[in-house]
Amino acid sequence: MSGLLLRELSAAGCRCPVMTPGHPDYDRYRKVWNGIADRRPAAIVRPDNVDDVLRAVSAAAASNALLAVRGGGHSLPGLSTCDDGLVLDLSQLNAIRLDLDARSAEVGGGALLGDLDIATVPKGFVTPAGVISHTGVAGLTLGGGMGWASRKYGLTIDSLTGAEIVTAGGEVVRVDAVSDQELFWGLRGGGGNFGVVTRFTFRLHPLGPVFVGQWRYPLADARQVLLALRERNRGQPRDLTTTFTLSGAGVDVAAVWFGGEGEAETWLSPFGGLATTGVGGVQSMSYLRLQSRNDAHYRWSRRYYAKGGFWSDIGDEAVDRLIEAVASAPTPDCEVYALQLGGAVSDVDEAATAYSGRSAGYYWLAEPVWDEAADDERCIGWGRSVADDLADRSIKANYVNEQGDAGSGVALGAYGVAKYQRLARLKARLDPSNLFRLNQNIEPAV
Ligand SMILES: Cc1cc2nc3c(=O)[nH]c(=O)nc-3n(C[C@H](O)[C@H](O)[C@H](O)COP(=O)(O)OP(=O)(O)OC[C@H]3O[C@@H](n4cnc5c(N)ncnc54)[C@H](O)[C@@H]3O)c2cc1C
Repeated sequence: MSGLLLRELSAAGCRCPVMTPGHPDYDRYRKVWNGIADRRPAAIVRPDNVDDVLRAVSAAAASNALLAVRGGGHSLPGLSTCDDGLVLDLSQLNAIRLDLDARSAEVGGGALLGDLDIATVPKGFVTPAGVISHTGVAGLTLGGGMGWASRKYGLTIDSLTGAEIVTAGGEVVRVDAVSDQELFWGLRGGGGNFGVVTRFTFRLHPLGPVFVGQWRYPLADARQVLLALRERNRGQPRDLTTTFTLSGAGVDVAAVWFGGEGEAETWLSPFGGLATTGVGGVQSMSYLRLQSRNDAHYRWSRRYYAKGGFWSDIGDEAVDRLIEAVASAPTPDCEVYALQLGGAVSDVDEAATAYSGRSAGYYWLAEPVWDEAADDERCIGWGRSVADDLADRSIKANYVNEQGDAGSGVALGAYGVAKYQRLARLKARLDPSNLFRLNQNIEPAV
C-alpha cells in the first residue's frame, strides 16, 4: 500500500517533500496535539499551495490510501493522523488577508486561531472562534466553533461567508450560499467530510475593550456557587459570557464583558459573590491575552480525552454528580468545563446549518488530562463515565468537535436522524467512496 501511495504521489507531481519514516522531519510532523494519538503514517506532505493539495488528494484516492487531513492537529480522538496512510498537513497554508472595507478575512486552511486573532484584533476586529490560540481554524470551523464572543457574534460558522475546497473528485471549488447552497449548509457543522478546505472567508466584527472577572471558590462551596451562577446567568446581555471549570482544586468562574468600560464592574463583580469564599477580581484584558491565557494548560503532547454535550440549563442533579465526579477524579487535572451559550448562537434557526444544538444554554465538557500511558484506562474511563452520566441530563444533539471517541454512532447521535440523512446525501454527491473518512464520519447515502 505505501509503495503504491508513494508512486502515486510521485506520478501526481507533488512538489512538496514527501516525508516517510527515516526522514529527518518525520517524527516532528507525525505528532499531533493529543499525546495518545501516537501513530506512524506511511507518508506526510506539507503543501504550501492548492495545486499540491489537489495532487496529494488525487494520489491518496488513486492508491486507496487512508487520508488524514490536518489543520491545527487538535482532533481529540487523533483523527488528523493515522497509521500507514497519508497525512496531509496544511500548516503551511496559514496566510491571512484582510479586506477591512468589506469587513472580511481570507484565512488559509492551516491557520491557527492565534494567527487569525493576531491579524484582526490589532485592527479592531474579531471573528468569533475558540478559547485556545493553538487550535486550528479549519477543524474548529467545520464543526461549528464556539468561544468567548459567541453569545455576541454567533458561532464561527455564522461568520463564514465562503470557502475554497479541494474535493475527492479532484476539483477546486469555491463555495458560498449562492454557488452551492447545500454544500455550504453541510460545511457549517458537518466536519471535514466534504473535502479539504484550503481557504475560508469570514465576516469581521468590531471589537472594543474586553474586561474579565475571574474567581476561584473552594470545592466545598461548589454546589452553592454553581446554582447561584445559574440564577445570575439568566437573562444576561449577550455582551456577557461566563464559564465554570470544576476540578478537585475547586471551581473557577470566569466572566467576560464586551460591553464597554462604564458597566464592566457592575456586570462582572457579582460573579465574585456567588459564595463568600471567592478569591479573584475584575481586570481589563486584551483580547489576544484572553485567547492565549490557557494555552499552556492545554499544551501539546499531554494525554487527553474529552467528551461534551449540551444543557438547556444547569440542573441540580447534574451539579451534584459533577461534584462527586471531580472529588474522585484519577488526576488533579481532570475537569468539567461549561461555556454559557445562547445569545447570537440561538438566533440562528436549528435547520439553517448542519451544526446541531442551537437552543442550548450551555456546552459542557468532561476532560481528563494526564501524562502517563499507564493511566490511560482509568482516566479515559473517568471521562466516559462522567460524560455518559451527564448525557442523560442533556439535550438530544451534540458537538462533533469535542468527542473523544470516533465511530459511526457519534455523528448520528450529534446531528439526529434527519440532518444525518441530509448530510449523507451530500456526502454521496461529493465523496461517494468516503475518501474523507478520518473524521466524525458521515457515510455516503446509498
Ligand atoms: C486545546 C483545545 C481547545 C479547544 N477549544 C475549543 C473551543 O474553544 N471551541 C470550540 O468550538 N472547539 C474547541 N476545541 C475543539 C476543536 O474545535 C476541535 O478539536 C477541532 O477539530 C480542532 O481543529 P484542528 O484543525 O486543530 O484539528 P485537526 O486535528 O487538524 O483536524 C480535525 C479534523 O478536522 C478536519 N480538518 C482539519 N483541517 C481541515 C481542512 N483544512 N479541510 C477539511 N477538513 C479539515 C479533519 O477531518 C480532521 O480530522 C478545542 C480543542 C482542543 C484540543
